[in-house]
Amino acid sequence: MSIFTTLGHKHLYRIQDTKKLSMGKEVLKFEPNEVFVPVVDPGSSKPIQLNVSIGDLVKEGQVIGTCEKGTPVFAPVSGKIVREETMFHAGLGRNVRHFAIENDKKHQKVEPLEVLDLKASAEQIVERMKESGLSGQGGAGFPTYIKYLGALEKNIDTILINGVECEPFLTTDHEAMLLHKDELIHGIEFMMKAAGAKDAYIVYKKGYPDLDECYKDIESINPSIHVAHVKNVYPAGWERFIVKAVLKRTYDKLPAEAHTIVNNVTTAILLARAMNGEVETHKVITVSGSGVSNPSNVDVPIYTRAVDIVEFLGGYVGESVSVSFGGPMCSRGVMDDKAVILPYYNGLTILPRMTLNTLPCLRCGACTDHCPVGLQPVEIKDAYQAKDSDRMMALTPWHCIGCGLCSYICPSKIDVNDFVKKAKLMTSIKLKQLEAQKKEGKK
Ligand code: SF4
Ligand code: SF4
Repeated sequence: MSIFTTLGHKHLYRIQDTKKLSMGKEVLKFEPNEVFVPVVDPGSSKPIQLNVSIGDLVKEGQVIGTCEKGTPVFAPVSGKIVREETMFHAGLGRNVRHFAIENDKKHQKVEPLEVLDLKASAEQIVERMKESGLSGQGGAGFPTYIKYLGALEKNIDTILINGVECEPFLTTDHEAMLLHKDELIHGIEFMMKAAGAKDAYIVYKKGYPDLDECYKDIESINPSIHVAHVKNVYPAGWERFIVKAVLKRTYDKLPAEAHTIVNNVTTAILLARAMNGEVETHKVITVSGSGVSNPSNVDVPIYTRAVDIVEFLGGYVGESVSVSFGGPMCSRGVMDDKAVILPYYNGLTILPRMTLNTLPCLRCGACTDHCPVGLQPVEIKDAYQAKDSDRMMALTPWHCIGCGLCSYICPSKIDVNDFVKKAKLMTSIKLKQLEAQKKEGKK
């Protein structure tokens, strides 16, 4: 079921208002009795290489195991690994193995990593990104170190720090920018050093006087770090949008082609902490929407179950709700609220579940008009429904960024994005096969 049914088109103009549900409120702290660590690699879905087993005692920040690309998975709390459970993984969309850790609430921590300052080499900073398991905090969770591998040879001149947070409801980046300014600046300085960049821009939307006040002296603190604003539109947080808006540059596949790297504000803050020897065990997420009693920003251990956090906030409102891991535009409501908060999640959006009364397509073209990538979502939907794979390939659904605008805008309440997603999955497999054949010279 689509969460867009709960929004309706009039809400197009209320996106900003939804942030007020949690913005400016005190950050609450929740300490669950148990956390559940998925023991599969989120990238490949293969089991991670484990360092521990059931019955072991673990400390906060201890390495539980290592993923395929060499990034570690940390225990977020101290306590005992009491059992294994098969649970739903919201990132992978299926059930996987988890280790349940009984939280002793004593916060016994492992020895911190060596503190590295700005004298550290670019290689040392990239290595620290990897050993601290730092991943992009904008929602995608891509390992941060990969963006910086070989960056010194790519003529990167500018780092763009994305504080746009254009999803409705979510306010964690906004609060982090206000509360952790020093760490943000420090993290940006490490990113600039790792990439050899001369400048950096902290980018956020127009219309936030609290941020303007907080960052008005940024150039007197570090003359190479500046502030840039983007329009208050959706999806202004999209990397291509930011690169175009701030640097007036375009690129084909990666921002590095435009001599820039884009990172989320919270990623920069976490890098400052990683250089100070800390690994990420806890995070602040926004839990918001009309389906939760007390919308708030909450500091929780990573791998806490969504249902436990909601209970801490007074429970659900209404008979039936839809829980989305992230904001409502890019993520979908899941059927299982026992899934856990992953290291790169920034929120839970909880809205009343409503029946979707889909009407036939009006051929109005609104989805095509609003697609920021320039796709024709309705045509992709038709091709998918007709099982016309040649047509699907011609319509290039793999360029979809999953912004959800086509579904949001559709007057017939058709979940167009869902069809585009399915077509993307089908054509991506075919695309990979074609590329492999091309490599082998078969054509
Ligand atoms: S979800 Fe994909 S197809 Fe739909 S508007 Fe966004 S980019 Fe375009
Ligand atoms: S917006 Fe909806 S009704 Fe209009 S063309 Fe697209 S799918 Fe059809």
